[in-house]
Amino acid sequence: MKQVAIVGCGIVGATIAYELSQIPGFQITVIDRQPPAQASTGAALGVLMGNISQKKPKSRAWRLRHASMQRYATLIPELEARTGRQIPYNHHGILKLCFEADEIAKWKKWIELRHSQGLKLEWLAIEALKKRYPQIESTQLVGAVYSPDDGQVDPVLLTQALVEAATLAGVTFHFDATVTGAKIAASSPQVCQSIETTRGEFPADEFIVAAGLGSMPFASALNQTITVKPVLGQALHLRLPETSRLPQPVVTGEDIHIVPLGETECWVGATVEFPDAAGEVVADEAQLQAVLDGAVAFCPMLSSAKILRQWSGLRPRPQGQAAPIIGYLEGYRNVLLATGHYRNGVLLAPATAGEICRMLGDR
Ligand SMILES: Cc1cc2nc3c(=O)[nH]c(=O)nc-3n(C[C@H](O)[C@H](O)[C@H](O)COP(=O)(O)OP(=O)(O)OC[C@H]3O[C@@H](n4cnc5c(N)ncnc54)[C@H](O)[C@@H]3O)c2cc1C
Repeated sequence: MKQVAIVGCGIVGATIAYELSQIPGFQITVIDRQPPAQASTGAALGVLMGNISQKKPKSRAWRLRHASMQRYATLIPELEARTGRQIPYNHHGILKLCFEADEIAKWKKWIELRHSQGLKLEWLAIEALKKRYPQIESTQLVGAVYSPDDGQVDPVLLTQALVEAATLAGVTFHFDATVTGAKIAASSPQVCQSIETTRGEFPADEFIVAAGLGSMPFASALNQTITVKPVLGQALHLRLPETSRLPQPVVTGEDIHIVPLGETECWVGATVEFPDAAGEVVADEAQLQAVLDGAVAFCPMLSSAKILRQWSGLRPRPQGQAAPIIGYLEGYRNVLLATGHYRNGVLLAPATAGEICRMLGDR
C-alpha cells in the first residue's frame, strides 16, 4: 500500500480523499487544523457554472469544467447511496441574465457552439423570459441564457458527505493537527519524507497539498514559492414573505448570484474584494449592500426580504499562474499541489480529484 497524506479538508481535499479511496492500493490520511469545510468552502455558494461558462472547447478551463459537471451527475447519487445523507443539489439549472444588446449575438454563437458539443443552452428573448420567470424584472434586460444542466450544490453538506464516504472506504482523518513544516529525505532532495504537525510527524510516500490559502507555508518549508492571495467574498441568506415564489434556477446577473433554497429563502452573493498592498482584506459593508441592491434591481421581490445571516470567506487566488494550481511542486516528485481554486473550487473539485488520481496512478 502506498501511503498518501492530504493536507486540507475543504471541498478539494475531501473530494481527492474520496476519489482516491475508490482506487485500490492507497492508504490515505487527511490532515486539517479544523473540522471539514470551515475555510473558503464554508463560505461558498456552490454555484456550478459549467456549460454556461464562456470557455473555449479546447481550453484547460473548459476541460476541467466539463469533467467536473460529468462527474457531479454520478457523484451526488453515489454519495447519497453510500452515506444515507441528503446532499442539497439544485437541478433547475442556471439562468444568466443579459443586459447589453451586443451580448445577444455573442450568446447566440456560444449557444450554437455548445449545441455542436452536444450540450444544452437556450436563449430566452425578453418576452419568453418574462413569461417563464415573471419575478425577474428590469428595464435594462435584453434577454437571458438558460442552462438546464448546470446547477448548485450545498458545499458544506457535500464536503461532510465526502468525508463520511471516504471514512467508510478506510481513509483516516485528523481534524486537530496544524501542519507546521515538512522534512526533505536525506537520501534525495527531490523527495518529501514527512510533514510536521502539532500532533506529530506524518511520514508518507506521496503528499497532496489542498490547503487553499494555507498552501504557501507548506511550499516554503520545502524551499519553494507559490503565491496564493485572499480575495474576500461576502454573502447573505434572505427570507421572503411566505406567499413569495422565487425562481427555482440559480439566477445570475452582473456577477451576482441568487441561489434559491426552496421558494421563500435564498442566498445572495458574493462580493469580490481584493487585498491591499499589505495583503490585508477587510469586509466592506458598502460592497455587500451594492450586491444586495444589484440583486433587487433585477429581482424586485427581494426588497421585502429579511436578512437571516450574513457571512464572508476568503477565496484562494493564485498569483502568476492560472487558477487552479494542479501538478507537482517544482523540484519534488512526491508533492502534488491541488490549490488556488479561487472562485470555482466547488465546481472544479471533481475534475481536480480526477487529475490528481491520474497523476498518482501513473507513478
Ligand atoms: C463567498 C464565496 C462564494 C463562493 N462561491 C463559489 C461558488 O458559487 N462556486 C464555486 O465553485 N466556488 C465558490 N467559491 C470558491 C470556493 O469556496 C473555493 O474555491 C473552494 O472552497 C476552495 O476549496 P479548498 O478546499 O481548496 O480550500 P478551503 O476550503 O479553504 O480548505 C483548505 C483547508 O486547508 C486547511 N489548512 C490550511 N492550512 C493548514 C495547515 N497549516 N494545517 C492544517 N490544515 C490547514 C484549512 O483549515 C482548510 O480546511 C466561493 C468562495 C467564497 C468566499
